Amino acid sequence: MQNFESIMEKLKILTDAAKYDVSCSSSGHERRGQDGHLGSSAAMGICHTWTADGRCVSLLKVLYTNKCVYDCAYCINRRSNDVPRAAFTPRELADLTMEFYRRNYIEGLFLSSAVNGSPDRTLEEICEALRILRSDYGFLGYIHAKLIPGASPEMVQRIGMLADRVSINIELPSRESLAALAPQKTAAGILTPMRQITDAMAEQRSLTGAGNKYSKYRYRPKQLPDSNFALLGEEAPREGRYSTAKMVFRGAGKNLTVRQIDAKMAVKEDRFAPAGQTTQLMVGASGESDRQILALSHALYKNFFLKRVYFSAYIPLMSSPLLPQVGSAVPLTREHRLYQADWLMRFYGFDVSEILDGNDPNLDLQLDPKIAWALRHPEYFPMEINRASPEEILRIPGIGTISAARIVRQRRVAAVTYDDLKRMGVVLKRAKYFITVGGRYYGGGVQQEDLREHLILQSGGQQLDLFAQTDERFLGTKLQIE
Ligand code: SF4
Repeated sequence: MQNFESIMEKLKILTDAAKYDVSCSSSGHERRGQDGHLGSSAAMGICHTWTADGRCVSLLKVLYTNKCVYDCAYCINRRSNDVPRAAFTPRELADLTMEFYRRNYIEGLFLSSAVNGSPDRTLEEICEALRILRSDYGFLGYIHAKLIPGASPEMVQRIGMLADRVSINIELPSRESLAALAPQKTAAGILTPMRQITDAMAEQRSLTGAGNKYSKYRYRPKQLPDSNFALLGEEAPREGRYSTAKMVFRGAGKNLTVRQIDAKMAVKEDRFAPAGQTTQLMVGASGESDRQILALSHALYKNFFLKRVYFSAYIPLMSSPLLPQVGSAVPLTREHRLYQADWLMRFYGFDVSEILDGNDPNLDLQLDPKIAWALRHPEYFPMEINRASPEEILRIPGIGTISAARIVRQRRVAAVTYDDLKRMGVVLKRAKYFITVGGRYYGGGVQQEDLREHLILQSGGQQLDLFAQTDERFLGTKLQIE
């Protein structure tokens, strides 16, 4: 690769600048290949994500550029901040991704960017980088591309056709915060592309049908001829579900036409962002309560069919009268509780108004929200495990969706015993205070009035220390944990 050192310098700047996006977590670890050993790992910007079937894949997590014309108060890359700047060219980024891929460092790319000039100008370059990867190199790996607020419909469409997942970060959870802290962005500039992505995915599903027989196929270029052939011309894919792209090569006295996409594969090839869209909300930079943040998150899942809403604890690195003081506590516990509450809404049938049904609009930082809800509702407990409905079982602290399903399954043939619950994976050190099994209560020894204190002690503060140590965003940053 040309200009290797300058590209590695850009990589260093642009992976460092990308680390505040929490959709991935980086390994941040370097280990060189050695004689007699297999494999190696690169320090810069390798993060991990999980596929729908639970497989962990490594991604190159990088910004296309950190040169920004915007001046968002909370952002380290804002125009007025004095940091080293860099930008890839489309070819550099594509080559770098392929180099990493060939060396087995990564299986995909997580690409975000600051706003260099304008949203569309930046996205045009990103689009070209993705086109090179997909078309020139036939790269089949996972690509998550972040769109920029204010992106035009054309750019959203083009990038959506190249990436597996597209997303646009909301960051600030209210219009007021957006106006105060990121005045160059608008709610419409964020929500309009999100709506377009939602509509494009819905339309596609109605055209092709979810889970049709081609749905597992993806971009599948046929093998390109060797270097004795020169590319004469390319014909872009035509509109339509079964159209193909053609490339014509000349060599050995004859023309060779290569269909880049199998007609059979074309249904899938036309899929727009098959891995869906996500977004990120920043926590603690502005004054929104957890109730507001969870209500927004709920509305986003409902109206935009998001795969995931990520929460990102604000790290007070930037000085501004509008922001928490530099060096003040990073609200990691709050971020963690929001994820737990989000989980309750998505998989346990809780509503925002149930999770925060008291006067306090913020989550209890000392207890996970499911335990906090159970303690506020002693009228439901203890619950007899052999009679409770499936929905009620899911409300019991210490019982997850899998163990709830196991309980319901076993009850069809025989009553569940306390020992059965252990085997089913129920966390009995929590659940035993909220259930009876065959009429017997196993939580004796702790008085009800002491239960809250007991459960707080049981969950302990150590878990949060572990969080602080392992979260790569904070490596090298001096932290004060709440
Ligand atoms: S547009 Fe993005 S990169 Fe630029 S200052 Fe705002 S948050 Fe930072």
